[in-house]
Amino acid sequence: MLLPKELLERVQLITPEFMETRGLQGLMLDIDNTLVPHGELGDVPNLREWLEPLRMSGIELRLVSNALPRRITYFSQMLEVAAVGSGRTAGKPFPRAFRSAIREMRLEPHRVAMIGDQVFSDVLGANLAGAYPILVRPLSDNSLPHTKLARALERLVLHSMGFDW
Ligand SMILES: [Mg+2]
Repeated sequence: MLLPKELLERVQLITPEFMETRGLQGLMLDIDNTLVPHGELGDVPNLREWLEPLRMSGIELRLVSNALPRRITYFSQMLEVAAVGSGRTAGKPFPRAFRSAIREMRLEPHRVAMIGDQVFSDVLGANLAGAYPILVRPLSDNSLPHTKLARALERLVLHSMGFDW
C-alpha cells in the first residue's frame, strides 16, 4: 500500500504520451511540494503550459490536496483544474477524496494516476482507492518536524523496497 508505481523527478515528465503508454486517462494532482513549493505560489504560467497538452488530449484532471480550502480554490482557478469536493480539504490518506475524484471523472480507478510527493498521504491514499500512484521528488524541504519525520520514514520504506530516493 505504500509502494508507488513510479518515481519521477518532476511532474513535467508526465505527458500525454506518458499517460497513453500506461493506459491512464485521469490525473489527480497534489499541490504542495508537487506543483509548487510548500506554501508558495509557484510558477503558474509554467504549470499551465505543462497542463495544456494533457487537457487537450482529453486527460481528466483533479486537484486532491490537504491544503486549506482557500489555497485549493486559488490553484483551481489559476490552473483551471477542478478541485475534488469543490475545494474542500481532501483528508488524505483516507481514500474518500480519491474515490470522489475518480467518480467525478467517470473512470475506472486503475485508469487514474495520482501524482504527489508523500508516501503516507498521496501514495497510500491512491493505493487504497485502487488508483495508480506516482511519487514525485518534493519541491522544497518542509521544516515542520512531523514532515521531517515522515520524510525519514519514506526514505526508509523506499530504500527497503530497493529504491534509491
Ligand atoms: Mg504534497
